[in-house]
Amino acid sequence: MNASELKSKAKALGADLVGVASRQAWEQLPREQNPLSIMPSCQSVIVLGRKILRGAFRGVEEGTNFSSTYGHYGANWHEFTFFPRLSFNLALILEEEGYEAVPMSGGTPAGEPGQGVADKQGNVRLDIHFLAEAAGLGSMGKGGFFLSPEYGHRQRLALILTDMPLQGEQPLKLDFCQDCRACIEACPLGAYSENPDGSYSLDQGLCAVCKNGSQPGSPLSCEPCDRLAASCGRACLVALEDKIGEKFQHAFRKRAVWQRDIDGRASVVTLQQKAARVASAPGADGRQPGCCS
Ligand code: SF4
Ligand code: SF4
Repeated sequence: MNASELKSKAKALGADLVGVASRQAWEQLPREQNPLSIMPSCQSVIVLGRKILRGAFRGVEEGTNFSSTYGHYGANWHEFTFFPRLSFNLALILEEEGYEAVPMSGGTPAGEPGQGVADKQGNVRLDIHFLAEAAGLGSMGKGGFFLSPEYGHRQRLALILTDMPLQGEQPLKLDFCQDCRACIEACPLGAYSENPDGSYSLDQGLCAVCKNGSQPGSPLSCEPCDRLAASCGRACLVALEDKIGEKFQHAFRKRAVWQRDIDGRASVVTLQQKAARVASAPGADGRQPGCCS
């Protein structure tokens, strides 16, 4: 099977995004992030993506439902019920071809020190966003979201390591963040801070207590600090809806934007006020995207 046939099979199983990061893209990574630490014979890392329904964000956007909509269909059921069937079934196909396949969720808990037998450091943890970039699926945006040309920030990711040699992709650098600071302007808690090189750091302590649609996340998730439906993430959805491949008949944002401060007090910002703030904000200047830390 070649890479093209593999992608066809993955898409037939329900994958929306499929890319291959070949060995030369990651073999020099530090041991604690290296696929070879988990599978010494690994030749290819297959990165799979499934889009998150735009409708899964609706209840949070309206401020009326957080768990039945995004919490289940955008996050937990999506990533831990629907998606693993795809990864598992594709891994079965690879093994039927005579190649070992190691399916992995998008994140890995750190594990207890000493739990890792080989390095006594706990679990080896792969950087799924690095591997997704290496597999040509998209790139990290200024606001710390992995962005794809098809869905913007709306996807979940998982991995399969295999000893099947497959042709890898070229990394894809998107320019979605040129002239955009929508995620940064949308954060009611001021969690982003600008670095001297123009990239942004994120105070994840603030995100952990944010009441603007962020989810607790899971260390097994590709989004362990799940901000996709928070004010920052939904601002990115709105900013990219005319730029990404998947188009809708109607705009996502239909009414004033709700937000809560650090104490949970709610207020509402009209779309006109929001647009004026974004237009007058400094920094819509085309800086290169930087990854949040
Ligand atoms: S999750 Fe909340 S605090 Fe963190 S960047 Fe997004 S809106 Fe700001
Ligand atoms: S909102 Fe704009 S600046 Fe922020 S990640 Fe999305 S595209 Fe980039």
